[in-house]
Amino acid sequence: MNLLNFTTTFPDEQSCKLKWKEMRDKAGIVCPHCGSTTHYWKSDKECYECKKCKYRQSLRCNTIMHMSKLPFRYWFVAFHLLTSTKKSFSTKELQRQLGHKNYDAIWALLHKLRMAMGTRDAQYTLSGVLELDEGFFSTERQEEEEKQSVGSSRKHACSGRRTKRQIA
Ligand SMILES: [Zn+2]
Repeated sequence: MNLLNFTTTFPDEQSCKLKWKEMRDKAGIVCPHCGSTTHYWKSDKECYECKKCKYRQSLRCNTIMHMSKLPFRYWFVAFHLLTSTKKSFSTKELQRQLGHKNYDAIWALLHKLRMAMGTRDAQYTLSGVLELDEGFFSTERQEEEEKQSVGSSRKHACSGRRTKRQIA
C-alpha cells in the first residue's frame, strides 16, 4: 500500500477505529475478567461488554494499544511507515511527521510496534487488509465458553453500572 492508498483508506480516526474493531472481532475478544469470548458491541460507548459478567473493555484493551492515549491513526501511520519504507526512521522523524509534542509517547509507540513485529518472521503488509495477529491482540481463546454462550439473549441495555475500565 502506498501513501496515497493509505490516506484514502484511512483518512481519519474513525476509519482506523473501524478497521481496528474489524481486526479485533476477527482475532476474537476475550474478557479479561472472566475469560468469556462472547461480547456485545456497545457502539455508543465504543466498547465491548462481556455477555457473561458485563465487564467492559475498550477497543484498545489487551492489544498493542493498551493504555495508549494516542490516536488510532498514529498507530496506523507508524505501522504503515514501518512496513512500507525500506529505510528505518527515527522517533524524532515520526514525531515530526505526526506533529506530536510528546517524544516519549511516540518512542513508546514505535518501540511497541517494533517489538511486536520483531517477534515473528511473517511479512506485514497494509495492502487492503492490515495483517496483524497475536502480538497486537493478546487474546487467550477459550473455545468451550464460546460455544456455550452463542445464541444467548441480546437484551442487555447499556446500564453503565458495572463498567470497570475507562474507555480510552
Ligand atoms: Zn466476562
